[in-house]
Amino acid sequence: ERCCNTTLVAYPTALVALVVARATRQSAARCVIAGWTAGNMTAAALRAAALVCTLQTCVALSARAACRPCAPQAEPLKWIIVGGGPHGVHIATALLQQVPGVTTDNLRIVDDNPELLHAWKTRTRDVGMSHLRSSASNHLDVREDALKKYAAETCGKDCCRPGKKSVFAADYMRPRLDLFNDHCDDVVKRHKLRESHIRGMVSDIVPGAITSLRVRRTDGLVDLRAENVVLALGGGAPAYPEWVCQTAVSRGLIRHVFETSSEGGDSVAIIGGGISAAHLALRHSRAGAKVHMVFRHDMREQSFDCHQDWMMTRDASARTGFIPERQLAFAGVESFDERRDIIRRERLAGTMPASVSRGRNGLRYAIEKGAVRHHKADVEQMVLDGDGVSLTLTTGAEIHVDRVLLATGFSKKPPGAGLVERMVRKSDLELCSCGYPAPDKYLRWGDVYVAGALAELELGPSARNIAGARLAAERIVEGALLRRV
Ligand SMILES: Cc1cc2nc3c(=O)[nH]c(=O)nc-3n(C[C@H](O)[C@H](O)[C@H](O)COP(=O)(O)OP(=O)(O)OC[C@H]3O[C@@H](n4cnc5c(N)ncnc54)[C@H](O)[C@@H]3O)c2cc1C
Repeated sequence: ERCCNTTLVAYPTALVALVVARATRQSAARCVIAGWTAGNMTAAALRAAALVCTLQTCVALSARAACRPCAPQAEPLKWIIVGGGPHGVHIATALLQQVPGVTTDNLRIVDDNPELLHAWKTRTRDVGMSHLRSSASNHLDVREDALKKYAAETCGKDCCRPGKKSVFAADYMRPRLDLFNDHCDDVVKRHKLRESHIRGMVSDIVPGAITSLRVRRTDGLVDLRAENVVLALGGGAPAYPEWVCQTAVSRGLIRHVFETSSEGGDSVAIIGGGISAAHLALRHSRAGAKVHMVFRHDMREQSFDCHQDWMMTRDASARTGFIPERQLAFAGVESFDERRDIIRRERLAGTMPASVSRGRNGLRYAIEKGAVRHHKADVEQMVLDGDGVSLTLTTGAEIHVDRVLLATGFSKKPPGAGLVERMVRKSDLELCSCGYPAPDKYLRWGDVYVAGALAELELGPSARNIAGARLAAERIVEGALLRRV
């Protein structure tokens, strides 16, 4: 990534060193060019060297030859996607496949992580899930059957049939995590998305007919411009309960599982009653730790975290003839406050599928046999206690553990809060009373597109899931095709 900076600095420096060496015959200058006998060069040789340096610098400056991330932009790019998670990658893939003229030369994905999908891969690995919660039709390629085809090609047809060897769970054909991730890598590779990845954090956006973005990178600031920008920023900041004290977090005694590694100790308290908390509890109890789970309700079973109706793309609806009534009714609601209420009602937080709760390997059994202790309570307060943490619960119980792991999901605030707020302040964009954007049906919010949580008020309660990425891509592609006409 540093290559063009290096080239741009190295050649002129060498040229200056040559001139200095020739003019002054200083030994220090000769050292700079590593033993080159510049002082003895003829004027013709010096002119030739100067010409070579100038040519090399011109080549380095040309946008094609320089490395992509920091190449100076002659023309604005066609698309910039901010966020290289499942949403950003799927939307990029859909644009490349479905919108004429979009190529890896004119599309970039900006994300500070070392690789695309880094946050997804880290979090799913850390909670210890073996299969996805969503079905085989939710993946990052465009064709609905792409993951099943990939599985048949790479693992053989037998592995796609129900049975012990299957790479899909029997219920809803949920893919195994390693298969899903291999397929993600295949999508990234086939579309050469790694070459489009710019490492950096977008700190400012000025929307317009050509939108400007400021990217903060380890080697400085880079300004980019694009005709179209998509904000695919993820779920936002992890939610920390009020009782958590900062000292415990900085000492690693309390960890949010979406933020840092979820390594425990001999005893752990897991806060939360959803699928991530359940996976974590099972993982730590299998590793021999004493596990407490703290959540205020009974275990709640749901296959998905919203009704399947919310996940149906228009493409699937047209193909199957199934009408997603909930989506249609939602689209007919004008008030965004009312839409927010529907999302709250329909999003089934704090639930887990039967595959995690039932059976010999399930959480219910682990609780029954005492491997996991469920406290139906909230935490009232915490105190640091030697090398661990003591929690006082609303039931009056007190537990002492080595580590507290928070599986409390994401904050209710919209993702990219600082970035989005700055955009609103500097332009005529508006936010709804819940703090989220209200994009149009093509997910355009002023001059930018939004996806994931930021598109929730248009897409409904599945917006944050992989199904939501597919719904978003469908709308954005439709909007982009219309604008070309
Ligand atoms: C443990 C776990 C399991 C899940 N399992 C499923 C499942 O089985 N099925 C399902 O449908 N959903 C599942 N989800 C929900 C959802 O699909 C994932 O959270 C998914 O990662 C969301 O993708 P995303 O692209 O929106 O966000 P992320 O994966 O969080 O990616 C967003 C990216 O944007 C980057 N970013 C943010 N701001 C900026 C900025 N200003 N500049 C540059 N980059 C920025 C972030 O660094 C990040 O890399 C799961 C979630 C979790 C946490």
